[in-house]
Amino acid sequence: MPEAHAQRRDRLRSRLAAAGADAALITNLVNVRYLTGFTGSHAALLVRAADSGDDAVLCTDGRYTTQATEEAPDVELLTERGCAQALTKRVTAAGAVRLAIEEQNVTVELYRALGEIAREATPGAELIALGRGVEDLRRIKDTEEIAALRIASEIGDRALGEMIESILVGRTERHIAMELERRMADHGADAVAFPTIVATGPNSAVPHHDPGDRRVEDGDFLKIDFGARYHGYHADMTRTFVIGTEPAAWQQEIYGVVFAAQKAGREALAPGVEAAAVDKAARDVIEQAGYLEFFTHGLGHGVGLEIHEDPRLGPTATGKLDACMPVTVEPGIYLPGRGGVRIEDTLVVRPLEDGGPELLTITTKELLVL
Ligand code: ZN
Ligand code: ZN
Repeated sequence: MPEAHAQRRDRLRSRLAAAGADAALITNLVNVRYLTGFTGSHAALLVRAADSGDDAVLCTDGRYTTQATEEAPDVELLTERGCAQALTKRVTAAGAVRLAIEEQNVTVELYRALGEIAREATPGAELIALGRGVEDLRRIKDTEEIAALRIASEIGDRALGEMIESILVGRTERHIAMELERRMADHGADAVAFPTIVATGPNSAVPHHDPGDRRVEDGDFLKIDFGARYHGYHADMTRTFVIGTEPAAWQQEIYGVVFAAQKAGREALAPGVEAAAVDKAARDVIEQAGYLEFFTHGLGHGVGLEIHEDPRLGPTATGKLDACMPVTVEPGIYLPGRGGVRIEDTLVVRPLEDGGPELLTITTKELLVL
């Protein structure tokens, strides 16, 4: 999709012009991929603000020449080891004075070196902050990106659907995690979106428990947080089950509260809504039920080329939601030593007149006894 990448570079170019930058040096590899399609592990990209056509330059080293030509056929390719330095030299020697840098992504050492290279090439040249310019662009997804997330989510739904048909009692957390990951690969995942979380019994009270040797027992909560990556796009879903017997009263209670909070969060998703207001909609439900101190993280996050990206949905989040932003909604209640519940979906923000948020992870959220 070279056109999509060219359009993204155009949007960045307008931002650069508005910020008074002559060019941007993109060193975050995820942003390089977003703007060019190149997926290699060593690269930098130069995007000039000049409005006369697309003259972006992608730099990578000799290992990736063929891959770069195939994946990013519409940009000029430069083969070098020190990409950031080479591109900085090139653009400042050509007269650029204000070069925007992803300051959050370069080391102090590299930043100093780039500044020296720029000033040597053109006296008075300076590095300015690009900030999260590309990350901001990435928040709103195009049709292809949403299609990839839809498939990634479907892969997860299928894999989990198969897992919960099988006997889980007596199996270890690690074994369940590995089988779920294999099933996602069978259904076409590129990879897992992140290391699978499988937490049983008291371990379910640890929000990001690392799967271990504990075996699933009757009466346990079984919390599974996982996702597939498809064409680079990351899906994210959590479901919590009860094993074997009728859920205990305390299990039903906290499950019911998390279920209601998650529903409130999902229903609050709409274009123009403050990100913090979505968190509050869900958090209020948990607070009214008296469990606020046991909900120890933010409500959700954007997903895309990374598993956690903007926008963030938390109490201190800033900014508003917009149509075509995929986000997770994942409240939880964690009772230390006893167990915990999280319910998480990936959804795409849509206008109410188009039917409201689009649910990508469709596995049931009713409390299932396995
Ligand atoms: Zn998750
Ligand atoms: Zn998540």
